[in-house]
This record gives sequence, structure tokens and C-alpha cells, in this order.
Amino acid sequence: MSMFYNKTIETLPTAHLRKLQNERLQKLLRRVYQKVPFYKKQFDENGIRPQDIKGVEDLHKLPFTKKDDLRDNYPFSMFAVPVEEVVRIHASSGTTGKPTVVGYTKNDLDMFDEVVARSLVCAGARPGMKLHNAYGYGLFTGGLGMHGGATKLGMAVIPVSGGMTDRQLMILQDFAPEVICCTPSYAQTLAEEMKKRGIPKEAINLKYAILGAEPWTETIRQQVEKGLDVNATNIYGLSEIIGPGVSQEDFGEKGRGSYIWEDHFFPEVVDRDTGEPLPQGEEGVLVFTTLTKEAFPLIRYWTNDICSIFYDKNAKRTHIKMSAIKGRADDMLIIRGVNLFHTQVEVLLKDFAGLAPNYQLTVTREGTMDEVKLDVEVEKEISDELGGGGFGGHGTVVSLAKRLQKKVKDNTGISMKVELKEYGQIPRSKGGKLSRVRDLRAL
Ligand code: ADP
Repeated sequence: MSMFYNKTIETLPTAHLRKLQNERLQKLLRRVYQKVPFYKKQFDENGIRPQDIKGVEDLHKLPFTKKDDLRDNYPFSMFAVPVEEVVRIHASSGTTGKPTVVGYTKNDLDMFDEVVARSLVCAGARPGMKLHNAYGYGLFTGGLGMHGGATKLGMAVIPVSGGMTDRQLMILQDFAPEVICCTPSYAQTLAEEMKKRGIPKEAINLKYAILGAEPWTETIRQQVEKGLDVNATNIYGLSEIIGPGVSQEDFGEKGRGSYIWEDHFFPEVVDRDTGEPLPQGEEGVLVFTTLTKEAFPLIRYWTNDICSIFYDKNAKRTHIKMSAIKGRADDMLIIRGVNLFHTQVEVLLKDFAGLAPNYQLTVTREGTMDEVKLDVEVEKEISDELGGGGFGGHGTVVSLAKRLQKKVKDNTGISMKVELKEYGQIPRSKGGKLSRVRDLRAL
């Protein structure tokens, strides 16, 4: 097995890739104009005919599609095929109001399997290996999405799903999978629980961890790689575009961004306020056009995720890359007028020996002033040594907290109260996504 799943496509020269994208885009636009009343109306209102868009460079002339548009067309009105041709339906969590419903035809599922298979190989997985799939199975696309791609690749899938950590640890030891996929916060939990139970790293056989579904930084990569003795890479996706496998980081190119499988998903990054396309390397909102989806095609879908896109000239593949997601635009905190994502704080923790990467930000409002408190745990060894009464006043703890507070202020521009906690006091992931921010201002 080579280091590619589909070498021809993954190394297609950019000019050919562009030609393929343009052909697919033109076909797509003609189809959605005919099949989806929402798009016909959008085009007509903007005085645009499908044939006016010659290629991806004209995409900026079209309006964005936003999450509210999907809600307005709940559940199936955005589908471009009769519901009888849909063979799978998923939905996003929908924390507020109705969930976002997505559908797949048989061909869409084949494409989903293909991009996940590519992602798996990119992460280090190979046919014949076993995949411990700890993403949730169900309406969430994570579990079934990884499952299909791994099956196509020729891996043995262990469909553990999320949660029940004791059972997960037993399976990791007894079935000896080489690859695990889950949220980064749950990988942290597994690494910690192994340590707690005295399970040595040699008792498991993991080599690769494929982590995604929530933002994470090098701080957590270090903890997980050390704790599980793996190569940990980033997988990104969202149910609206397909699910996991929209982009994937190569295990030999860690920290250098994730490949977007741009023969299927055309990315743009735009200014979050004006919607104007931004040059490569500049940070803004990620927008996708699905070039090949049949059941649920999306034109210029506003993901709300903040990152940049760029070509990496020294990379194995020709596809464009995206940086790690900083956060969702609607999760950005505005503290006394300054913007803050929790990942900006998280990434700083790696430079502090003695701190465990378990933290939480709490935002409150005192009168008209926003206050932020950063709670971070110290490592277990230090906690055990200093634990008990007077922990917070201990010299080591006080000076660590002071240094961290300064570092955070220097890097984010925000003064926050820093409290170091004894090990084990901050919430952990029990299997899925973990919220690291408590914003109590609106309450
Ligand atoms: P929801 O979380 O809205 O129910 P999804 O399960 O489809 O819907 O989640 C998709 C979202 O999860 C993305 O838009 C993004 O915000 C986040 N996400 C997914 N993968 C990553 C990743 N690797 N890094 C950061 N955020 C991610």
C-alpha cells in the first residue's frame, strides 16, 4: 500500500484539479437551479443564470447559503433528488431549535467512503489494521462516516462508539487496534484513565489517532501523543458538507495544515463581516461548495469556522490545505472589546511544565465589565505533592499562576484571573465534544 489511497487524484496538478472543479461546478449549478427552489430563487433574485458562472473564480458572485436557510427548508426541501433516492439521513445536534438535516444518495455515500478512506491513509492507517471507532454512532455523522471509509479501505472496524471508558480500555488492550478515532478531548480522557489505572503504554498497540469534531491545539496533541504513544492528526468535517473527511492532516506533515479534498469540496475563506473573499493565508470564515454531492448539494455554505487556506509547496499532495480551526465565529468571546477563542489560551499551556491541559474559561459580567477566569489543573504529581489545604497559596502554584497570567495577557491582550486547580477538578469528555467555555454573561 502506498502512502495514498487515490494517488491520481491526490497528486493531480493544480491546473487539472481546477479544470475538474470547473466542469463539476457548472454541472452542479445547472442542476440545483432546476431541482432546488431555494437556489432558483437565490439566483433569480441576484440576476444570475447558472451559465454566467464559468468556474470557481466566479463563485464569489453567488450569495452564501447559511444555516438559517437550511432551517427554513427543514427537513428535506433543500434536497436535489426525490426523497425516494435518498439512502441515508443524518442530522447535526441542533443545540437551538430544529436540527440541520442532511441526506445522501448511494453515490454520495460512495464519495463519503472515498474521502474518509483517503483521510485514513493520510493519517497513517493501512488496510489490514484495526480501527477503534470511538465517534458516536447515530444521527451524528462521525461514527458511521469513519466506519464506511475504513471498511472501504479494508480495515477491521471496531464500532465502539463514545463513552463507557472501562470497556474502551479493555478493547484497546484485548483487540489491539492500531488506529483510534475520537474527539481530542476524549483521547485526553483515555490517556488519563490509562495512567490512572496503571495500564502501561505497552499494553496497547495504538500507532495513530485521528482526532476531530472540535477545535484543538498542539497542547493536546502533545498530551495525547505521549499518553497513548501515537501519531495524532487532525480530521475536520461537518455534516452539511459530508461529515468527517472534508480535510485531513498527513502524519508526516504535522502542524502544517490539513488537506481539503478539493476535487469534491471547493473551499473559500471570506471576511466574517463583509463576506469578501480573502487571499490565501488570511484568516476568516471557511465557506464550501460541494462539487459532486447529489442529494444535498450546497453552494457557498457558510461554515462559521475560522481558519485560513493555503497551498503547501513541499507537501506530498497537490490539494489545498487549511489551518487548524481556531473556533466557530459564534463561539468567539468578546471580552471588553477584544476577540478571544479558547484555543488561543489552550495553545499557550504547552509551554508550562507542571500544568495539565485541562482547563476552562468562565466569563461573567460585573456591572458593565466583562471578567474572565481561567481555571487550569496542575499535573497529578504536583497535585499529589501539594494537594490539600492551602494548595492555591503554595509558592510553586502562585508563581506558575503569575507566569501564566502574564503569558496570556501578552498573547491575547486580555487580563484574566488565573486559578490553578488540583488535578481532576475540571470537567472531562465522557465520549463526545467537550465545552471548555462557560459564558455566564447572558444568564
Ligand atoms: P454540530 O456540532 O453543529 O452538531 P457537526 O457534528 O457536523 O455539527 O460538527 C461540525 C462542526 O464541528 C464543524 O463546523 C466545526 O465547528 C467542528 N469541527 C469538526 N471537526 C473539527 C476539527 N478538526 N477542528 C475544529 N473543529 C472541528
